[in-house]
Amino acid sequence: MTARRRKELKVLIRQAAIQRAVRRIARQIERDFRGQRVHLIGVLKGACIFLSDLIREIHLDVSLDFMAVASYGKDQQSSGQVRLLKDLDTSIEGLNVILVEDILDTGLTLNYLFRILEQRKPRTLRIAALLDKPSRRIIPQVQAHYLGFKIPNEFVVGYGLDYAERYRNLRDVCVLAQPPE
Ligand code: 5GP
Repeated sequence: MTARRRKELKVLIRQAAIQRAVRRIARQIERDFRGQRVHLIGVLKGACIFLSDLIREIHLDVSLDFMAVASYGKDQQSSGQVRLLKDLDTSIEGLNVILVEDILDTGLTLNYLFRILEQRKPRTLRIAALLDKPSRRIIPQVQAHYLGFKIPNEFVVGYGLDYAERYRNLRDVCVLAQPPE
């Protein structure tokens, strides 16, 4: 990391702790769906790194699909409106679906996706989120069945999470102390 990067980023969760959390979540999923197939749905783009680590840790019959959403709003604030940019490629009817998200913040995005997917008659529908900022929740009923870490109300980047499309490649989850110009 360069000196400039060190100044703008503060490590919040190290790579090793993330790896342990991913393995813990995978074991929970294996226990809950022993002998069954699970269908992971990644929410692009932020969940792509978490999803690719998680899927390789799950020793079950696993399949995969993606959705992409955009939330209207500027900067680091979600406006509360969500728009579907990419829908699933295949039906989820009768499947054990786990919606995989990077971070649960206000809950608006997952609430929107959960309601859409519920209508498509999956056998089960659960949420796996790497991070949760409970103090920011607007929709209290949105909860992650599988959760990596609860974090304080800070804007984080790394491990898939971006600021203006940057920092997704960081191995640690970091607080962006000083957004770049
Ligand atoms: P929600 O709809 O729960 O408010 O927000 C979910 C989405 O907001 C996440 O998928 C993510 O794209 C974005 N988000 C919320 N908090 C953060 C954060 O601290 N860092 C980054 N990079 N994105 C965030």
